[in-house]
Amino acid sequence: MIRLFVAIPIPHEQRQRLKSLCNGVREARWTNEENFHLTLRFIGEVEEPELDNVSAALSMVRSEPFEMTLSGVGHFESRKRVRSLWAGVMPCLPLTVLQERIESVLSRNGLPPDGRKFSPHITLGRMKQGSPEYVRDWLEGNGVFRAPPFVVESFTLFESYRAQTSAIYTPLNEIPLVPQKVNEEIL
Ligand code: ATP
Ligand code: MG
Repeated sequence: MIRLFVAIPIPHEQRQRLKSLCNGVREARWTNEENFHLTLRFIGEVEEPELDNVSAALSMVRSEPFEMTLSGVGHFESRKRVRSLWAGVMPCLPLTVLQERIESVLSRNGLPPDGRKFSPHITLGRMKQGSPEYVRDWLEGNGVFRAPPFVVESFTLFESYRAQTSAIYTPLNEIPLVPQKVNEEIL
């Protein structure tokens, strides 16, 4: 089996900005800065022969490059415990469109749909037993976070390998976002 997900890697300058957020919560296990990414679609475990099919399907996605701005922070809770801390993204229609195109091409190729609503974020840290109180100051203190915009020119299919200390992500296929040709007859 091979564990897969589709994501947008974060450029170096923005990774540095994100790294500056990774402190101030003692109970958090912060993400390695090389691992920062924005997940577009978690695929999960598939049989290895399925990989070519998934990869080829993703290569069919046509979408335009677009500008994205990382902004704000937040957290996810379950059972009243903070599980993760993350940085957010300014509302970005082309990002939603890209995510929908990926979802649609994968479901047309037989992957079960991911029923969850897409909520774009970059995970900065995880917590095992996070009381919401531990993170209140962090959330308030970093609410004004904003990084310089960058242009998203591709997205990537990654393998996720669970090493003992942290996950190792290996890019398997980088799919370019290409400006769509203007129909000359319209001009
Ligand atoms: P680890 O699980 O070893 O702590 P990780 O969560 O970064 O590391 P994966 O579990 O392989 O590695 O997840 C890869 C990406 O997919 C991450 O961005 C993760 O948040 C996201 N992800 C994982 N599971 C799901 C899920 N069930 N639904 C949506 N996204 C998920
Ligand atoms: Mg995980």
